[in-house]
Formats: sequence, C-alpha cells, structure tokens
Amino acid sequence: MIPAAFEYYRPKDLEGALSVLVEHGDDARVLAGGHSLIPMMKLRMAEVPHLIDLQDVDGLSGISVDGDTVRIGAMTTQHDIIDDAALAAAAPIMREASLQIADPQVRYVGTVGGNVANGDPGNDMPGLMQCLGATFTLFGPEGERTVEARDFYEAAYMTDREDDEILTAVSFTASKGGYAYEKQKRKIGDYATAAAAVLITKADGKCTAASIAMTNLSDTPIWSEDASNALIGTALDAAAIAAAVTAMLGDIDPTDDNRGPVEFKRHAASIILRRAIETAWSRA
Ligand SMILES: Cc1cc2nc3c(=O)[nH]c(=O)nc-3n(C[C@H](O)[C@H](O)[C@H](O)COP(=O)(O)OP(=O)(O)OC[C@H]3O[C@@H](n4cnc5c(N)ncnc54)[C@H](O)[C@@H]3O)c2cc1C
Repeated sequence: MIPAAFEYYRPKDLEGALSVLVEHGDDARVLAGGHSLIPMMKLRMAEVPHLIDLQDVDGLSGISVDGDTVRIGAMTTQHDIIDDAALAAAAPIMREASLQIADPQVRYVGTVGGNVANGDPGNDMPGLMQCLGATFTLFGPEGERTVEARDFYEAAYMTDREDDEILTAVSFTASKGGYAYEKQKRKIGDYATAAAAVLITKADGKCTAASIAMTNLSDTPIWSEDASNALIGTALDAAAIAAAVTAMLGDIDPTDDNRGPVEFKRHAASIILRRAIETAWSRA
C-alpha cells in the first residue's frame, strides 16, 4: 500500500512548521510518530499533500516535574513516559497506562501529542488526560492558548484544535492518592474494548476526591462527574461503587463493532471500572 504523493517538510522550529500549516491549511498535517497518520495515508483514508515532520522541531520533547506541576512535550514518546522516574513518582498512572498501549515497537515512536491530538476514541491518553484534569497547550497564528482536556474532544477525530494549530505540550498537577488504569482488550497490542482511569484521594477512611474517565465506549473519552461524585464522602462500600458504575453506564454510549455488541461492551465497562476503583482505593 503506497500513499498518494506528498511534499515532505522537516522544519527546525515551531514557526517554520506553523508557516507551512498556515500556507496550505487543510492540505497540510503535522507528523509525529506516524503510527496513526502513515497507515491512514497508506490506506488512502487520509490524503495529505503537505506533510510536516515535527521530529527536528526544538523544544517539543521532554518531561519536567516542577513541584506539583508536570509538563510533557508533545513529541515525548510513550517509551519516554514509561522510562521517566520523576514522572512515575509524580503521576504513576501515566506509567501504568502507557505500559498497556500497543506494544514496545509502537511505544518507541508513538507520541503523547499524536495520541491526544488524533481524536481517536480508541486511544488511551485522552481519557487518561481527562482523568488527570490535564491542560493542552496549542500554538497557532495568534500565539499560544490552552484548553482543558475535558473540553477538547468533540466527536471521533474532531477536537477543539484548529487546522493551523500545533499541540506543544500537556500539563497536569501531580496526583497524590490512589490510582489505577485498567484495560480490557482482545489481545496484546490491541486498542481497548473498555478502559478506565481512576484517581482517588482518601483521608480518615473516606474518599475525599475522585476522578474517573473511560475509553472507547463513546465517540469521545468520557469523564464522568457523576461517577466521581458517587464516591466522594463514602468509605467505598459496595453501594458507593455500584452507584459510581451506574453513573458511568449512564454517560457512555458504546456502539456495536468487531469488539462486540453494545450489551457486551457495557458489561465489560462495568467490570473494568469496578476493578479500577477497587485497585485505586487499595492504593490510596
Ligand atoms: C498496531 C498499533 C496499535 C496501537 N494500539 C494503541 C493502543 O492500544 N492505545 C493507544 O492509545 N494507542 C495505540 N496506538 C496508537 C499509537 O500509540 C500512537 O499514539 C498514535 O499512533 C498517535 O501518535 P503518533 O505520534 O504516531 O501520531 P501521528 O500518527 O504522527 O499523528 C496522529 C494525528 O495527530 C496529529 N498530530 C500529531 N502530533 C500533533 C501535534 N503535536 N499537534 C497537532 N497535531 C498532531 C497528526 O497530524 C495526525 O493527524 C496503536 C498504534 C498501532 C500502529
């Protein structure tokens, strides 16, 4: 499978990348790890006459943990995330989730920026970012702006990012309490049938804060405020966990596909979420 012909650009800085995007609009796309975009081009599901490779652009890679603030450059790979001790200490859910993405070959080149910007409902990072309450930084002709991960996803492959904006980083506050990333998939290397990201804070035997998001159960990731609230103030007894699961089942909207019928997906979602809540609570 050979993609349609395209012009290849390899700018050294963000301004250079942006100028090609602005000049060619819809006909130009940035290339990060290429693990989603190149297959789409080869299958002729995406035609990109102007391809802008970001790999030489200065300042887009790297992880910094400054006090409680975590910043990950868009070109940072999933492998880099798994390998970073400071990040593992500040937000261990990042490592736990990244280890469940695809396989090592994909993780060596797949980037956090490509994963969150793509808008693929099957990608694990968008739900994770919503769970963490992350902020995305975008660079465009008007300069820099930020958008909350919880406001970023509009529909499958549709996001708040304009065609002429480049995602430069994701940032979030270090997570102190219990965490868990649970994923049900058909086989190693597969996208999720259902995945759950859960963060829980505990004090005096009660849940004081919770954040819950799920992946590949709607055309966007689903962060459920009602599910999170169902746990707060409780000692996570069976009734509280059941209420959180019920709230999430009310927010997701899975469709039939080769991962199974709707009823199966709702069942998988409830099992995975329950498991993630129990693990996060045991670690809190
Ligand atoms: C076999 C296989 C299995 C996989 N399994 C999983 C899985 O289980 N879970 C999972 O989460 N992912 C999975 N992936 C996806 C992979 O992990 C990558 O994260 C994904 O391909 C996107 O990252 P990328 O760097 O390759 O982006 P690219 O393919 O380069 O780009 C993807 C899209 O995002 C845009 N883009 C990229 N970077 C930016 C930026 N900085 N600013 C604006 N737009 C940008 C591109 O223009 C393109 O439209 C799998 C991939 C493969 C090939």
